[in-house]
Amino acid sequence: MSLANGRPYLAIPGPSVIPDRVLQAMHRGSPNIYEGHLIEMVASLWPDLRMVAGTTGHVAMYIGNGHAGWEAANANLFSRGDKALVLAVGQFGTSWANSARAMGVDVEVLDFGKSAPADMNRVEAALRADSGHKIKAVLTTQVDTASSIKTDIPRLRAAMDAAGHPALLAVDCIASLGCDEFRMDEWGVDVTVAACQKGLMTPPGLAFVWFSEQARLRCAGADLATPYWAWGPRAEAEEFWQLWNGTAPTTHLYGLREALDMLHEEGMPQVWNRHRVLAGAVWAAFDAWSAGNPAIAMNVADPGDRGWSVTAARFGAPHATRLRDWCETKAGVTLGIGLGMAPSTDPAYHGFLRVAHMGHVNAHMTLGALGVMEAGMQALEIPYGPGALAAAVKAVAAAA
Ligand SMILES: *Cc1c(COP(=O)(O)O)cnc(C)c1O
Repeated sequence: MSLANGRPYLAIPGPSVIPDRVLQAMHRGSPNIYEGHLIEMVASLWPDLRMVAGTTGHVAMYIGNGHAGWEAANANLFSRGDKALVLAVGQFGTSWANSARAMGVDVEVLDFGKSAPADMNRVEAALRADSGHKIKAVLTTQVDTASSIKTDIPRLRAAMDAAGHPALLAVDCIASLGCDEFRMDEWGVDVTVAACQKGLMTPPGLAFVWFSEQARLRCAGADLATPYWAWGPRAEAEEFWQLWNGTAPTTHLYGLREALDMLHEEGMPQVWNRHRVLAGAVWAAFDAWSAGNPAIAMNVADPGDRGWSVTAARFGAPHATRLRDWCETKAGVTLGIGLGMAPSTDPAYHGFLRVAHMGHVNAHMTLGALGVMEAGMQALEIPYGPGALAAAVKAVAAAA
């Protein structure tokens, strides 16, 4: 028998749950794109977009997903043959590197594996080795959604400064903006990339690139920038159409307005805190489950190296797939698949899953998902240690 009827919970790391308020804001016909309400409403987005990223710098918006955001950043940062240093701690860092390479950038990847954080000594050494300063920018994820590893951005900035290297710092915050603490200006980030369908709680379709004045000046002649991708006209548009180099993503913009209102009402420090506490509840549950079954293990050992929006974990093949199927069909909770984490003995990722706690998510959703996971383990006879739900409840109770 299934107990899945009722409101389903999509607990995958993007797209995330869309708030009813955002859906309702989008439920409207096409507005006039030449004058009137849309134009004024869009003007109100810029201060809030800067607020979520913690910057007074420039913002360019694109119709696109996170992959589009990467290419937008690449196109403006680099000319053909320029060099990029990319930090990889999972699938997403690697994919950003691949996109830059495919566009003609000379890419050096520092690969730290998929379970350990980036080693800043290696980053510093790589930058010191580049005595001719050929590296134009360092690219990194803040949270790699596949591995759930968080890169410590202030420490990365410090390593770049210690090396005395002038490279720009570009950060993919697609999985972390609106979830994990991020302060673009304070942390010395030059370029930030995000998309709307994760912490920003809006259906997939908008990508954002924030860039500092320094990045604007240093990248002014980048020859990869085509009319569509060039960030300058978007950030300094004189005509409304220039913001998108064509038709505006009208309906999405109303959704984004509402989502930004929600973040504004809650306040960024509280938004980050909520994610931190809910992540802590998930980790407490995993610690208890793992204690009774060593095949269950979070991918990242040190909590300080884990993102606050998603937790990646091993379950031992084929149990991850069995558990995901059970949670979805029997209890209405959809968990994330493993992505790029499979050992060669498990090509179908049957031993790995991800639990999202990203965006429009609260204690009842997270505790509910954990309860469902444990019910699934019990029903499927996957061994697990006791006390997980009590530990998660304690984490929530202590914080709230
Ligand atoms: C989701 C994600 C992407 C890719 O975004 P798409 O919208 O799927 O193109 C890139 N980087 C990170 C860190 C992500 O979480």
